[in-house]
Amino acid sequence: MAWRASVLTIFPDMFPGPLGLSLAGKALSAGLWALDTVDIRAHATDRHRSVDDTPAGGGPGMVMRPDVLARAIDAVADDRSRLLMSPRGLPLTQARVQELATKDGVIVVCGRFEGVDERVIRARGLQEISVGDYVLSGGEIAAMALIDACVRLLPGVMGKEASGVEESFAAGLLEYPQYTRPAVWEGQKIPDVLISGDHAKVAAFRRAEAEKLTRERRPDLWARRAGRPREGGDS
Ligand code: SAH
Repeated sequence: MAWRASVLTIFPDMFPGPLGLSLAGKALSAGLWALDTVDIRAHATDRHRSVDDTPAGGGPGMVMRPDVLARAIDAVADDRSRLLMSPRGLPLTQARVQELATKDGVIVVCGRFEGVDERVIRARGLQEISVGDYVLSGGEIAAMALIDACVRLLPGVMGKEASGVEESFAAGLLEYPQYTRPAVWEGQKIPDVLISGDHAKVAAFRRAEAEKLTRERRPDLWARRAGRPREGGDS
């Protein structure tokens, strides 16, 4: 059975969207992964098919109802991880993506409005995942980011096996700068070492560049990078 993503959303028409094109789209057509959507609204029972209601205790906006969402979840629930896209969640990292990509797939709940009733998060064991410290208007774009990151790691999806191993975060470092032809562009040359044909020198150059970039741009990653002994104090 191929890796399968089931997305619960009130906007099923947003899918596959960008996941239907390019690398993910070709892999989808080739059956390397599968995507289905559950229209949360189809699980509403009242005349107006409402999925949300006013927040208990007052305040702005609307909250997604636990009963409707639970029915939508129960319609697809199996052994797969149940995720809820949420700015309060665990940050989505390459390590987490790698873990999710090695399982059978994911069930992803996309929030809307002010979010989701807390009780359904607990009752259905939803794991909250965030794509960053900013607020989107809904979970769909966040879900697409998560699914895209997983799909490209599935067997047979990326052309060269190596491209998954060397890129940003794989070794806890940002990726080294890339160059391609023309050899000189607007007066700027490709670094000589990259056209030297000396593979060991190329590897050393790239490693040094990756380390420099990581140190400059992401001191947090640099401090936590693989193989580095912990320095006292922070953890
Ligand atoms: N009131 C909430 C934000 C709701 S945004 C709060 O302050 O935390 C509406 C929905 O968009 C959320 O339920 C979630 O599903 C999605 N969303 C917004 N930002 C996100 C992020 N950074 N990561 C993942 N999902 C996000």
